[in-house]
Amino acid sequence: MYSPIKYIPAVFLKNRLLQFTFFITSRCNARCPFCFYWQDRHSRRRELDLDEIEKTSRSLGGLLWLLFSGGEVFLRQDLADIVAAFYRNNRPVIITLPTNGLAPDLIIPQAEEIAAGSPNSAVVIKVSLDGVGADHDRIRNTPGNFDKAMETWEGLRPLRRRHQNLQIGINTVFMRENQDNLDEIIDFVNELPDCETHTISLIRGNPAGDNGKGIDLGKYLRTVERLEQDLKGHRPKMYHFTLARLKSAQDLIQRQLIYETVRQGRRQLPCYAGRITAVMNEVGDVFPCEILDCPMGNVRDSGYDLMKVFSSAAADSVRAKINSSRCYCSHECYFVTNILFNPMMYGRLIKQFAALRQPGR
Ligand code: SF4
Ligand code: SF4
Repeated sequence: MYSPIKYIPAVFLKNRLLQFTFFITSRCNARCPFCFYWQDRHSRRRELDLDEIEKTSRSLGGLLWLLFSGGEVFLRQDLADIVAAFYRNNRPVIITLPTNGLAPDLIIPQAEEIAAGSPNSAVVIKVSLDGVGADHDRIRNTPGNFDKAMETWEGLRPLRRRHQNLQIGINTVFMRENQDNLDEIIDFVNELPDCETHTISLIRGNPAGDNGKGIDLGKYLRTVERLEQDLKGHRPKMYHFTLARLKSAQDLIQRQLIYETVRQGRRQLPCYAGRITAVMNEVGDVFPCEILDCPMGNVRDSGYDLMKVFSSAAADSVRAKINSSRCYCSHECYFVTNILFNPMMYGRLIKQFAALRQPGR
């Protein structure tokens, strides 16, 4: 497996792109009322095709974490080819693919092709689950979603046994509509066979507005405490890639910091978005993160050279704006890098790391 060790100098230098999020399509077969993406489709413009994506990936260099998003990523029929292009050109340590699980016939074969084609990357597939049974369908406004998600889960399980690099987990969006049912959801996921991780994402949107879309922060804190208890218990859910235990330690700190961010209404840590992270949407616009609507440029205008966009004057002014504006958010993906690449956090990381036990596979 590719090792994350070579990215350690970037902890101090912050001089290269490490985490790349690619919103590969805005198409989706679900209609979640809380979705921040399909309701705001940019895409009257044509999606980047495989050739354009391949050329863009060639400009990127090595990546620690390649994260696909959307839309439903598995609706792109060329998904396996796209991942293969990044695997060839960027040797990602971790490749994450979220899915709503609605189309097992598309998801299972592509998941197998991706896992087999990226043997040295940890391929993490996250199935969304926001409630148990009919609750999930109601919350997502998508009848039959729960059954389909479970069908997908059952289809992924045997792949995990065939491909050591494949890891499967569940992601739950914490929101007003399910904040009273988190214990039930966590209990259900704890019993889900072969589930390696359960992540909780606070609903997107500016937490300053309407206290994070009407969530009860006390209930979020109780969920954070429950997950911490479970992770430090006898059957912890944890990835099995190199330094996975460190990632779990970071998860614990991340949830506490997200709670404090929303409670205090301010950023708790320096944000490295636009310095070591970048986001590209399906039509090639590049952003520092997926919250700020501050494009740095478009790869179609730069000969598919994303690093040219990243080092442009427009990108510099976006970074300056981030530094001066003290914007803040609760977006988990940025807490990952903001914690792991901040030496000031290492005391807390070591403490949490020591409190965790490594599970067997
Ligand atoms: S499945 Fe994901 S992308 Fe699709 S509507 Fe729901 S939240 Fe949005
Ligand atoms: S704090 Fe949040 S909104 Fe601001 S730049 Fe970082 S990731 Fe983006």
